[in-house]
Amino acid sequence: AQPVLAVVGRPNVGKSTLVNRILGRREAVVQDVPGVTRDRVAYDAFWAGRRFTLVDTGGWEPDATGLQASVAAQAEMAMATADAVLLVIDASVGATATDEAVSKVLRRSKKPVLLAANKVDDDRLLADTASLWSLGLGEPHPVSALHGRSSGDLLDSIVKAL
Ligand code: GDP
Ligand code: MG
Repeated sequence: AQPVLAVVGRPNVGKSTLVNRILGRREAVVQDVPGVTRDRVAYDAFWAGRRFTLVDTGGWEPDATGLQASVAAQAEMAMATADAVLLVIDASVGATATDEAVSKVLRRSKKPVLLAANKVDDDRLLADTASLWSLGLGEPHPVSALHGRSSGDLLDSIVKAL
């Protein structure tokens, strides 16, 4: 089976936009991932000669347990079921308490974790993304899912991690 990358993060940080950006023009293949919630949608992705499965955890919206608990649960599920995890942060907002909580969960991961600082649409936000090193997840990868900025660099890091 091909390696699985799970994309996690707060609602609205641009996870689904980034998934579409990574998929590019390829037609998304929607599959049911056995044993997990139907809200998780898996797509067939391809980069630099490598195939992998991309799981958009977008269905995980805040429920009765609150945003922080539900995003932490999303991260736990990702660590348990994927080969690598991509945490997406909204760089225009910066790291929130929820981002810090989910990073703490992900720091326990024995699997590779990558950090994307999304919504870096122009150079203005580039310098700020260095502060995301403090999340303890290694190098922040500045990207703009909307405009495609640096998504190739992120993909290079993803396939290296898988
Ligand atoms: P998700 O809830 O994390 O899956 O986030 P979505 O992909 O649905 O995006 C939430 C909002 O952020 C949408 O209005 C997107 O157009 C916007 N968005 C996503 N990526 C970017 C980006 O790189 N730059 C900007 N400015 N907006 C973005
Ligand atoms: Mg989404």
